[in-house]
Amino acid sequence: MEMFDLLAQRARVTPERPALEDLESGEHYNYREFNERAARLAAAAREHWGLREGDRLAYLGHSRAEFFAMLFGCAKAGLILVPMNWRLAVPELEVLMDDCTPAALVFGGEFADEAAALGARSSSLALVALDSAGAGQRDYHGDLAATEPDLSPHPEKCPDTPWYLLYTSGTTGRPKGVIQTFRMMLANHFNVGLAVNLTADDVLLNVLPLFHTAGINLYSSAVFLVGGCVLVARNFDPTRALQELENRATVFFGVPAVYQALLDHPAFDGKRLGGVRSWGCGGAPLSLPVAQRYVDQGIRIRTGMGMTETGPTVFLLDEELVIDKVGSVGRPQLLTEVRIVDRDGRDLPAGEAGELLVRGPNVTPGYWNRPDATRDAIRDGWLHSGDVARCDEDGCYYIVDRWKDMYISGGENVYPAEVEKVLEQHPAIAEVAVVGMPDDRWGEVGKAYFGVRTGAVAPDEDALRDFCRERLAGYKVPKAFQLMDALPRNALGKVVKQTLRDDAAKR
Ligand code: ATP
Repeated sequence: MEMFDLLAQRARVTPERPALEDLESGEHYNYREFNERAARLAAAAREHWGLREGDRLAYLGHSRAEFFAMLFGCAKAGLILVPMNWRLAVPELEVLMDDCTPAALVFGGEFADEAAALGARSSSLALVALDSAGAGQRDYHGDLAATEPDLSPHPEKCPDTPWYLLYTSGTTGRPKGVIQTFRMMLANHFNVGLAVNLTADDVLLNVLPLFHTAGINLYSSAVFLVGGCVLVARNFDPTRALQELENRATVFFGVPAVYQALLDHPAFDGKRLGGVRSWGCGGAPLSLPVAQRYVDQGIRIRTGMGMTETGPTVFLLDEELVIDKVGSVGRPQLLTEVRIVDRDGRDLPAGEAGELLVRGPNVTPGYWNRPDATRDAIRDGWLHSGDVARCDEDGCYYIVDRWKDMYISGGENVYPAEVEKVLEQHPAIAEVAVVGMPDDRWGEVGKAYFGVRTGAVAPDEDALRDFCRERLAGYKVPKAFQLMDALPRNALGKVVKQTLRDDAAKR
C-alpha cells in the first residue's frame, strides 16, 4: 500500500461539499478550497519558510480550521507537523522543541509572546504568524497567498512515513513524541468510521484540542475520508457547543469532562439534542452516574478506549450494549487485536485482570528519537499499554486501571479506579481521585481527594469511610480523605495523579 494524496482525491470526488468551518472566524471551506489551502501551505513551507522533506513544522495555537490545512499540507510536502500543547509553559515547550528541532513554528496571535521566546533561542527557526506578524516574522496568510499551489495529487509516499508527532502529556514521565502515520489514520477510520457509520452527510462538532489524537482523529480525520463536514471550535465553550449540537451537528465525540460540563449547563435539554445521532466518549473513564443521567435524557453515550500510540481507537461499545454493558469500553474494533496477559506475559482467561496488549495497523511505529522507549513499549509487535483490563464472557472489555496507579496495601492489590467508582456514587461528591500513599504499617494505603457538588455539604471523613466500608473490602477503604476546590487536570480533563501522589507522600 502506498500513501496517496487523499485530500486531493477527496477534492476530485466531492469538490463542492462543505469540509470545514471555523466557529470563531466563520471561515469555511469546501473540499476544493480545503485541498487548495493545504497545497498552498505545502508550497509556502518550501518557498518561503525554507522547509525540506522530513523537516518538522511546529504549531502553537488554539484549535482552528486552518490547522487541518496545515496537517494535510504537511502530508503533501512530506513534512512532519508537531502540534504543541498550548497549556505548557515556555520551559516545557522548550523541551518539546529541543526534542523535535522544528525548522519553522506557526503560531496564533494568542501565543505571540511564547513564540517570540522560543524564536529567541534559535536563529534558524522561522517564526510564522497566523495573525499579525512582528519584526523578523513571516506572515502566514501573505505567504500562502503568494504561492502557486500545485493542485495535482502529490507523489506517493510510504504509509509509515512520520506525518505528525503528538507528545504524550507527560503524566507518565518525560514527554515522548508519538509518531503518527497515514496508515494509522486509515486504520482508525476502519475502526471508528465504519462502527459509527460516518457518511458525507455527517457534521461533526469538534471541541477537543488539536494537539491531541482525540481532536484530530475522533472523528475529524474519519469525517474527511467520507466527505463530511467538521465544525472546529477554538476552545470548549459549553454554551456554544450546545447551540451547535442543537442546530447542526449529527455526530459528537467528547471526553468525560466535556460531558460533565454540558450536563451541568443550565441550557442542557436532552429533548433538543435529537439531531445528534451518535455520541462518543473516551480518554478516561466516564462516571456511571453521568452516563446514567444522559440515558435518563434519552442519550446513549458510546464509550470507547484508545491511546495516542494506537491512533487512537482500540475499543468501542455498541450502541445497543450501552445499558447492558455499562462501564465497559466495548469490543476491539475491526483492524485491531488485543490480549490480556499476566506479569510473565501469559494470556489470561476471561474475567481475570492483566495488562492490555494491542496490535494492528493503528499502532504507532514508535517514539521520535527514542529507540529505547520504543523497544520497551512495543515487543514482538505488541504494544504494551500500561493499562490493566479484563474481558467478560461476551468479549466486552473493561479498563480496570493503569498499572502505575495500582498500589499494594498489606500485600493486596488495590485498583484506585474501583474505589473512585464507589465514591462517585455518593450524592455530595462531584469528582474524586484515589492514590496510594506510603504507610508504615501497610506499606501503602489509599488517600481520596474529592470535590463536592455545588450547594452540597462536604461529608466528613467518618461518613465517607462508612460509605466505602459498606461497599468495599476493608483494605480498599481509603485511610485519608481530602476536600479540594478542584482536582489537578490536564488539557483533556484527565486527573494528573502524579501531583496527588507527590502531595500524599509529603504529608
Ligand atoms: P501520558 O502517556 O502522558 O501519561 P495519557 O496516557 O493520558 O498521557 P493518552 O494516549 O491520551 O495519554 O491516553 C491513553 C490512556 O487513557 C489509556 O492508556 C488509558 O489509561 C486511558 N483511557 C483512555 N480511554 C479510557 C476509557 N474509556 N476508560 C478508562 N481509561 C481510558
